[in-house]
Amino acid sequence: MDVRTFTVSQIRSGLATRAFSAVELAEEALRLAHVENPKTNAYLTFSSERALEAARAVDQLLARGEDPGALAGVPVAVKDVIVTRGLRTTCASKSLEHYVPPYDATAVERLEAAGGVVIGKTNCDEFAMGSSTENSAYGPVRNPVALDRVPGGSSGGSAAVVAQGTAVVSLGSDTGGSIRQPASFCGVVGVTPTYGRVSRYGLVAFASSLDHIGPFARTVEDAGLLLETIAGRDPRDATSAFAPVPDYREAMRQDVKGMKIGLPKEYFASLENETRDQIEKGIALLRRLGCETVEISLAHTEYAIACYYIICTAEASSNLARYDGVRYTTRSAAAKTLAEMYKLTRGEGFGAEVKRRIMLGTYVLSAGYYDAYYLKAQKVRSLIARDFAQAFESVDAIVTPVSPFPAFRLGEKLDDPLQMYLSDIYTITGSLAGIPCMSVPCGRTRGAGSELPVGMQILTRHFDEPGMFRLAAAFERADGFSI
Ligand code: GLN
Repeated sequence: MDVRTFTVSQIRSGLATRAFSAVELAEEALRLAHVENPKTNAYLTFSSERALEAARAVDQLLARGEDPGALAGVPVAVKDVIVTRGLRTTCASKSLEHYVPPYDATAVERLEAAGGVVIGKTNCDEFAMGSSTENSAYGPVRNPVALDRVPGGSSGGSAAVVAQGTAVVSLGSDTGGSIRQPASFCGVVGVTPTYGRVSRYGLVAFASSLDHIGPFARTVEDAGLLLETIAGRDPRDATSAFAPVPDYREAMRQDVKGMKIGLPKEYFASLENETRDQIEKGIALLRRLGCETVEISLAHTEYAIACYYIICTAEASSNLARYDGVRYTTRSAAAKTLAEMYKLTRGEGFGAEVKRRIMLGTYVLSAGYYDAYYLKAQKVRSLIARDFAQAFESVDAIVTPVSPFPAFRLGEKLDDPLQMYLSDIYTITGSLAGIPCMSVPCGRTRGAGSELPVGMQILTRHFDEPGMFRLAAAFERADGFSI
């Protein structure tokens, strides 16, 4: 039994033929995770008891001949911004070091109901703010592909555990690229579904109009299966969609001959050469599969970063007001008055990036600046969404790089927040438009030192996850990128 290479369907047949039990699998995944963690720091908390209990339940169902669920026995890791009942959820912040939620996020509830086995909570940037996982209060995550490199962020831990093989699939969150960019840096599949496709109930809010929960996996099929399990209407999140959840694996079986793919010229302007080579190789493969490619323009792309950092900081400044030392947070011991209690608690509990964003967000929402910044950014957001809508009138999917460069070295961009913000240049637009987008492994750079993974981004119309998976699965079959 090698957990590191397992897919969901291999686990299903292994359990069915009694090659191993769910408990044996969970024990092995936990053992491996404990061995690997000193190298990568990808897990913040292990949930051994919860995992073994879930695995025992799967084994009992199997013994009784009952259906144990679509994810039966599958070791899953969950980003630590997604709440888990009775299991510490820190958001990688010092302020929530001891926070133990009283409920489960809907996504967690659904994957456990399908037999999934949660083995731990993964490290990330504090409150999901960052692109390298270096903003964690508990130390950075190292990329398992090259330990001197970042795994991307903010869901760096969730990407790393799937790449190193201690979890078969994982949950991340994406506000401006935090699933796709780490997936591309670590060489795994990462999916940001349509806004509202997956309930945000239990996802700690960063920027509510942009936040998504989505899956990481080593194969397109596993990513689709996990998404199918967690997607769908949830009365506890008013923005979750009523649209029925399709059978994504059905879409994956269709071939892609005749699909029309748009290549937005703005996304190929400032790429590192080696990344460009890999993406062009990927596009050539899509053509060989019978896709037609056309150059398109998404004219407002250049405003995306500015627009995103106004909207997300505005929403963050409001969302993070709840950490006031009264409710969830560890309260400062030094405070003598109420005002001091707020100030010191927030001052001690939040890291530099979180503070920067709260200040920026408060500024852009303040009287006098609201119209000039926040309102303007909302208008630009509509223009960016309209660019996509117009493009999808003539193409079935859009293909771009995920990031202009592969995984960078730890510390390389830490002193320059603007450089760090630029690593999301190709992912932020899809988030602002709320359309489905994903990263699929598309090759490795051959440069000095390590060979670093490069991800290709596929974007489709709202709720056209089937079209996105169809293209991704055909690419995977032809390219053989599964690890
Ligand atoms: N890197 C982006 C940011 O820092 C995106 C983060 C995310 O998607 N959660 O905001």
